[in-house]
Amino acid sequence: MIEFQQVHKAYTVQGRQIPALQPTDLHVRRGEVFGLIGHSGAGKSTLLRLINRLEEPSGGRIIINGIEVTALDANGLRSFRRSVGMIFQHFNLLASKTVAENIAMPMKLAGGHGSADIAQRVRELLVRVGLSEHAQKYPAQLSGGQKQRVGIARALATGPDILLCDEATSALDPQTTAQVLQLLAEINRELGLTIVLITHEMDVIRRVCDRVGVMDGGVIVELGDVADVFLHP
Ligand code: ADP
Ligand code: ADP
Repeated sequence: MIEFQQVHKAYTVQGRQIPALQPTDLHVRRGEVFGLIGHSGAGKSTLLRLINRLEEPSGGRIIINGIEVTALDANGLRSFRRSVGMIFQHFNLLASKTVAENIAMPMKLAGGHGSADIAQRVRELLVRVGLSEHAQKYPAQLSGGQKQRVGIARALATGPDILLCDEATSALDPQTTAQVLQLLAEINRELGLTIVLITHEMDVIRRVCDRVGVMDGGVIVELGDVADVFLHP
């Protein structure tokens, strides 16, 4: 479903090349929860953000659902991105918009949805993430866990089949983390989304992931079923 062929990335900063991802082959299977773990600076974010081309690769090919993402023009990319939702460590909600307006935003930006359609879809998403009572609140009135639920609902708004999670529970306490991971597991199981998540916490991998890649220095140094990778001495 998500295929990397010799994908690599270096950032250019003041004329200097900073390597972030060495040439990488990777296959993420449809319907799995795939985790990437590693120290800060290992290249996890870069790899994740290459999937929806928030970062441009320096080389290689990325093929998703048979589409060569790395070859898309601006129009193609805009429509491809509707099939990929993303959630963030710091939620990235718009402070001046209500919960309902935040969730509606991707549909408004995509265009082509009537306001009744959008309102109906927002109601469904609020039920899905358990926030129906909070539709008219502003992000500042919510707990961290509630904010991330808004982030998840917003990510689901355009009906994606892939969900990218960038340290999505790193700002949350352990109990809230468990609840958000439970919601992600439901979304994987009930809606069939393929999930790619990055974390620096082993526990997150153990709780929700089917397979895991361990990253170090821009390389996936180990990859396999979670049970196999973490049972090694
Ligand atoms: P991780 O998500 O595992 O912490 P990153 O993908 O963020 O790792 O970073 C990988 C490497 O790329 C690091 O050396 C980091 O400093 C560098 N890097 C990441 N983003 C940028 C950027 N926008 N500009 C320059 N260097 C970057
Ligand atoms: P900015 O230019 O400030 O990065 P964008 O217009 O790219 O803002 O995004 C608007 C909001 O939607 C931001 O809060 C951003 O973090 C979030 N966002 C961006 N891309 C996605 C995505 N693929 N899925 C969900 N939310 C996204």
